[in-house]
Amino acid sequence: MFWLACLPALASSHTVLRVSAPVALQTFVIGPPHQKAIWETPPSLRICKDTGIDYFRVMQASRYWEKLGYRFDSIYVDSSPICLNPRYGEIMITLPDGTLDPSHMAATKIYTHTKSGFIIKAKIFITPRNARKQRVLEHEIGHAFGWSHYNQKFHMMNSNWFLGGYGSKGLKK
Ligand SMILES: [Zn+2]
Repeated sequence: MFWLACLPALASSHTVLRVSAPVALQTFVIGPPHQKAIWETPPSLRICKDTGIDYFRVMQASRYWEKLGYRFDSIYVDSSPICLNPRYGEIMITLPDGTLDPSHMAATKIYTHTKSGFIIKAKIFITPRNARKQRVLEHEIGHAFGWSHYNQKFHMMNSNWFLGGYGSKGLKK
């Protein structure tokens, strides 16, 4: 079982329209953010070297979640030419494949165990350019931890990059 969650791209004219339309601004949200599933044990974070994604940028993004009580088993760069699919217990960071809508900045696919419901692996699709943009990697790691979008203004899991922020309401472990 998996799903894909995305963040709209900067270049998207639809996104620009949403920013300028006051009715789309959602300041109040009823209830806490929703976590679809959780990991049984802390996941590893594997960065495929050929992506060109900066290790220190990933470390920085991981710290946002560590401050909220989340743990990573390890964070490392995989320089092997075979860096395609995440292994059990792993969040893999790789370049977008053909399935990623070009109008999105990044996407995360998570896989859950059919019986236990735990997240068993996750795959983050992102380009080095978008990985450098503030909050994008943090947001995608949030999806990898099972969090859904939460459209409160300045919240990390806001589906609209322009309306998001470092807000962590309801995310603390
Ligand atoms: Zn998202």
